[in-house]
Amino acid sequence: MQYEAVIGLEVHVQLKTKSKMFCGCATEFGADPNTHVCPVCLGYPGVLPVMNEEAVRKTILTGLMIGSEVARFSKWDRKNYFYPDMPKNYQISQYDLPLCAKGLVEIKLNGGATKKIGITRAHLEEDVAKSFHFETTSGVDFNRAGTPLMEIVSEPDLRSPDEAFAYLTALREILISGGISDCDMEKGQLRCDSNVSMRPVGQKAFGEKVEIKNMNTISGVRRALAYEIQRQTAALQKGEKVSQETRRWDDATGRTSVMRTKEYAHDYRYFPEPDLMPVVVSEEMIAEIRKLLPELPEAKRQRFVKQYGLPEYDAGVLIASGTLAAFYERAAQGSRNPKAISNWVTTELLGKLAEAKKTIDECPVKPEQLSELVSLIESGQISGKIGKEVFAEMFAGGKAASLVVKEKGLVQVSDTGSLDGFVEEAIAKNPKSVADFRAGNKAAINFLKGQVMKLSKGKANPQLVGEILLRKLEGG
Ligand code: ADP
Ligand code: ZN
Ligand code: MG
Repeated sequence: MQYEAVIGLEVHVQLKTKSKMFCGCATEFGADPNTHVCPVCLGYPGVLPVMNEEAVRKTILTGLMIGSEVARFSKWDRKNYFYPDMPKNYQISQYDLPLCAKGLVEIKLNGGATKKIGITRAHLEEDVAKSFHFETTSGVDFNRAGTPLMEIVSEPDLRSPDEAFAYLTALREILISGGISDCDMEKGQLRCDSNVSMRPVGQKAFGEKVEIKNMNTISGVRRALAYEIQRQTAALQKGEKVSQETRRWDDATGRTSVMRTKEYAHDYRYFPEPDLMPVVVSEEMIAEIRKLLPELPEAKRQRFVKQYGLPEYDAGVLIASGTLAAFYERAAQGSRNPKAISNWVTTELLGKLAEAKKTIDECPVKPEQLSELVSLIESGQISGKIGKEVFAEMFAGGKAASLVVKEKGLVQVSDTGSLDGFVEEAIAKNPKSVADFRAGNKAAINFLKGQVMKLSKGKANPQLVGEILLRKLEGG
């Protein structure tokens, strides 16, 4: 029997707001434990939550980006359960009246086709604290508690781990483009629970689903789903039943294991939050938020391909972050070779930033400076290789390309007179390569070319060197 996977994802996104969902504490990541806390987010009795309007706006903007129906009236509910990272014993969430209902996210499949994945709902809630387990004790850091958290639930429309990967990638791009969240998975800003079941190909009804928790990368989700599909298929083929349960993914072993079975499923005893007013969204507010709608990632990707003549891949890398895309556009403006600019941004620049653990906002090289560097190379004033040296210097000191070139005397040598000398020297010092070349091993010229570049300390114009060498080798 052939089986087919049915997958639905629940994505939690920390919103990019200055303060928490129901108190004024900062949402800053990485601060000393329990330094951004107050009686509200610590769950003290007798305190009152106050709703963060910016979080509501960001959720509505998300809804508009994914084509949801934005509720003109929604409300807050208490989701009751006990856990040490949530001392109120309930989480404020939205149950039956979420801010956003329905919607669509378009994904790209291998081979270029697209598929629309349904969104069930997007609602707003508060994040919980974070537990840390040490050798003999455990600790709880409440800095995260109360961070605005949006949950986006997909319809069970995904059919493979690759589709789930594409969906998360597309959703992440959308969220970043709207400034909703930075979606940094290493910081836990985007987390995903995956639901997966198997059914015989051709059958309409869904099988029993298993929920997988604890995945913190998009590729982790893909691997976890692949494992789970294979585990469930093997069980079904043996005639066993797959039971509804929650499983945990272990990235190190590449396996899932049981966390809790259906019998232990929570009864959250939802009821309306009595301390908060319902959320009434006016038409004016929606119109105002609509003005913030950014160019959607797919549209931007297509525009980059057209306007700058970039391959889809390059465009995808560049649009993955709004600030990176903006950097690129500024650098490419007026450049005669936008593709070269893209190469520099996606390799050298991103590489150096990663090495220095800096974000694009902190990049010491300005877009206009990168643009200048590329035109120095384009016009043959410096070689590409020297360009890398110059770039490293620019990155370290924030200097302009032309200044580095001048200070270090790196201008490319293009006058035949001086190049002749280097070529003569290389020929004189490497008789074997010369003989090889003349005996028919044409590749031997590359070694000689390398020697000339070395003698010129990398400053010789490589194309001219090639021409002069060829002339001298073939001529004499
Ligand atoms: P629960 O009540 O257990 O949270 P939901 O109906 O809310 O279940 O669905 C949670 C997620 O699981 C959604 O993303 C949904 O698309 C997905 N889902 C629901 N049923 C199935 C199924 N049989 N197989 C795979 N995914 C499913
Ligand atoms: Zn607080
Ligand atoms: Mg659910």
